Amino acid sequence: MGLRGFPRGYVPKRGDKFGSLTATGNSKLRKNKWNNRYFSEVRCPHGNTRFVRTSHLKSGCSSCRKWQTCFLIKAGQKLGSLIATGKFRIQQFRTCASRYYEVRCPHGNTKFIQSSTLKSRSSISCRSWEECGLTEFQSRHRDYMRNRMPAVDLANLSEQQNGVCVICGNVRFQSSLNSKEHLIPVVLFARSKWSLKEKNARANSPTNIFASHFWCNNSRNGLSLRSYWKKHPQFEASARAAIARARQVRRSLIHEEFLKAA
Ligand SMILES: [Zn+2]
Ligand SMILES: [Zn+2]
Ligand SMILES: [Zn+2]
Repeated sequence: MGLRGFPRGYVPKRGDKFGSLTATGNSKLRKNKWNNRYFSEVRCPHGNTRFVRTSHLKSGCSSCRKWQTCFLIKAGQKLGSLIATGKFRIQQFRTCASRYYEVRCPHGNTKFIQSSTLKSRSSISCRSWEECGLTEFQSRHRDYMRNRMPAVDLANLSEQQNGVCVICGNVRFQSSLNSKEHLIPVVLFARSKWSLKEKNARANSPTNIFASHFWCNNSRNGLSLRSYWKKHPQFEASARAAIARARQVRRSLIHEEFLKAA
């Protein structure tokens, strides 16, 4: 006998069940230099079919949970206490692509979350989101500040940083910077004891606005950079260098303006 009671040389027949998957009866053989690999076609409850290694079926592969075609989240779909907005983005990593879905929590905050995380149900509430747990008063202040982010040119910011992300220092991604970032997160100002006017002046001061990768911005989510770098120490040195460079460039710009005006 072979794996889990399947006879040696077993080939799934049409209608054979493997958990929620059903064999269609089609199979194929892929040979390479070292071995023969058998694949059997199975259909899932969503009606999608796919060729799966026969040995995987025999050893217990029994659902379409990991199939890209089967985990499409629609707008309004409930995922624990989160609700999908219907927006998603695809992030290409070196070897594979990952889908991120936007979800809204009961406090009205939105965030992109990797579909595999949603699938594994490890992030089905906003419990760990920094910006939740704000009082109603604080969250109104946060929205006020967010709506008043100054209209600085992203291309300019990026140039001042030499195209280096202030969060990952371009260690995570090399791609161009596509998001404006409050260096000290708005949510931290919202929690502070200052007046709203003071909070807004500080959060949206030009010295607090930098450019980053959208993904870095999103994954950081309200954490201070210091805590974020504690989790990802490989980013810190070159991100710090980018911040220092941008500050220097801005100081000299202000100096030039000053000379012009004088
Ligand atoms: Zn399916
Ligand atoms: Zn929340
Ligand atoms: Zn980055």
